[in-house]
Amino acid sequence: MSPETARHSRPEVSNEERYRALLHSVSTFVWVADAGGQFSVPQPGWEKYTGHGFDQHGGTGWISDVHPDDRAHVGEVWNQALQSKSWYEVAWRCWHGASQSWRQCITRGVPVTDQAGFVREWIGAVLDIEDRVDFELKRTQNDLARVNRELALNLETMTRLHQLSTRLVQAGELSVLLGEIIATALDLTGADKGNIQLLQNGMLRIIEHRGFDTAFLDYFNNVEPGKAVCGMALEQKGRVIVESVAGSPIFAGTPALDVLLAAGVRAVQSTPLFSLSGRLLGMFSTHYSMPQVPPERDLRILDILARQAADLIERKMAEQTRRQAQETLNLSLKAGRAGTFDWDAQKDRNRWSDQLLELYGIRREEFGESTRDWQAALFPEDRERAIAAMERSLESGEFEVDFRIVRRDNGQVRWMHGAGQVFFEDGKPARMVGINVDITDQKRADEELRRLNRDLEQFAYSVSHDLQEPLRSVQIYSEMLAAAGSEKLEGKALDALNFVRTGAARLEQLLRDLLVYTQASRFETSAEPTDAGECLAAAVQNLAGTISESGAKIDAGALPTVRVHATQLRQVFQNVVGNAIKYGKPGVPPAVRVRAERQNEQWRFAVADNGIGIDPEYHQRIFGLFKRLHTQHEYNGTGIGLALCRRIVEHYHGRIWVESRPGEGSTFYFTLPA
Ligand code: ADP
Repeated sequence: MSPETARHSRPEVSNEERYRALLHSVSTFVWVADAGGQFSVPQPGWEKYTGHGFDQHGGTGWISDVHPDDRAHVGEVWNQALQSKSWYEVAWRCWHGASQSWRQCITRGVPVTDQAGFVREWIGAVLDIEDRVDFELKRTQNDLARVNRELALNLETMTRLHQLSTRLVQAGELSVLLGEIIATALDLTGADKGNIQLLQNGMLRIIEHRGFDTAFLDYFNNVEPGKAVCGMALEQKGRVIVESVAGSPIFAGTPALDVLLAAGVRAVQSTPLFSLSGRLLGMFSTHYSMPQVPPERDLRILDILARQAADLIERKMAEQTRRQAQETLNLSLKAGRAGTFDWDAQKDRNRWSDQLLELYGIRREEFGESTRDWQAALFPEDRERAIAAMERSLESGEFEVDFRIVRRDNGQVRWMHGAGQVFFEDGKPARMVGINVDITDQKRADEELRRLNRDLEQFAYSVSHDLQEPLRSVQIYSEMLAAAGSEKLEGKALDALNFVRTGAARLEQLLRDLLVYTQASRFETSAEPTDAGECLAAAVQNLAGTISESGAKIDAGALPTVRVHATQLRQVFQNVVGNAIKYGKPGVPPAVRVRAERQNEQWRFAVADNGIGIDPEYHQRIFGLFKRLHTQHEYNGTGIGLALCRRIVEHYHGRIWVESRPGEGSTFYFTLPA
């Protein structure tokens, strides 16, 4: 590493070293006094030179190291400096411990001010000039003056940078804060103008500037990588300095040259702004009215400012993302008719989101933020239950309950679903965070659906029951008629009688199926584990007649235990296996395979046949009530069987479907809980 780059990359260290060397050298030493001119902390340099410890030089004790004849003068200069808060220089004789003698010295002191301009402390350098000959004295005085100038400059710079950073952590528009960074750069360095660009969609856009007119801003508003100095710095991901705009090949023959010259820019530097994770966020450029390479010190300051700008941009971007997320959440809470609460259990302070207050119809100023405010809003009949649920949650940690509230603004009764999580501290409930969702519409729809279902079931049930009676009569009288007078009836009359008899038989079947269907979801009790093999066996038993008639073969694999009511599973098997036989190919004995396969928490049953198959177009439709693909002449049936199967399977949160092609057989699948 060359000394050049070493200095560039570790400026703070070399500064600190110099400072420390100053502090400890014998012939030049530095002291720090408080705003009132007292030594409030030990001064190692002073102690080393005078041989007097802090017990002697502390406070105003240092005055005893000033030669008695010089004390008045030193005191006068010092007091004046304290009042004017400006730097001072004074020659005096200082006690030198090592030689036990007074030696000629010069002191320069500078005030260090805080942001508000108040003197926080004084820093002084004492130079022993006793041994120096005249010319050396002058040179040393010059050196000292330079050191002090630099010291003062650095102090000013540091104070200014410090002021800036306290300003930057405060709230403010990004562009305003970036403007202050640019202003600080112009104050502390030799730059005349400056701007900060943000990288958006691969282009650099000026977000803030100092000193440019619209012609410049229009021209450089959108810079692509590789163009102009900032574009080059973007491409190189490092600082680019153009010492002379007029002489640089970057601008030669481009309109940018005229724009820059018209703006009075003769030199430019661009420093990339990197996020902490190394992402390039934008560019910090400063512009100079004379051709130049900015001095190392200025570049260091620009580095610091670029760092601050990058941090700021990154922070603002994070804030923006957070805000957007919050807005999205708010929107979805609103859309989902939900609001949140955050309850401090110890202080009984309940903070409600705007949405929650809106759901309860309470204005923020009416809301006392205590549990009582919530309880007061509860619908009287639900109050006890909701409060009990909340009290239970303070032990269990989980809050979940549906309850009704009465809106404060319009007296409307609304259903809420409340859910929350309790956080404990030292075993005591400290905080509960949760949500209320307005589920009134859902409750109403549920209620309506339940009522409709009930009505429908009742209707179907009574229809099928009430129709049994007259149906029986039709059957009985038509049988009697057939038995008593079949030889007397002939032709059309006989046909009519036969129509009546088959019609009545079919109606009877339809009513029986319908009755079973309407009762399919009536089981309120929870199901015990049921042996599916036994259910299938019972179904096959009931189908014995059809099976022997058709010559069907039933191949049942090992079947599991499932949590459903046995009669219902038997019904499903009876319908599906019955269909597999009924819809067989003419002349081909039906072959039915029943299998079950475990899939996580459920069993998937498969009933495969070698029948006529089903066109995929109808794979959904056949599960609808009264949906049939054939006429009564082709295959008899009521179109209720598969609808009943679906009703039963869905009652257990399962699914039923078919895979089939015409002429290739069908496989019916259904899932049931294990
Ligand atoms: P149904 O058998 O009383 O007509 P389902 O609800 O049991 O009523 O069946 C509906 C329709 O689905 C049947 O009419 C038939 O067209 C078709 N289907 C059912 N099972 C099969 C099968 N295994 N093979 C071919 N078609 C079938």
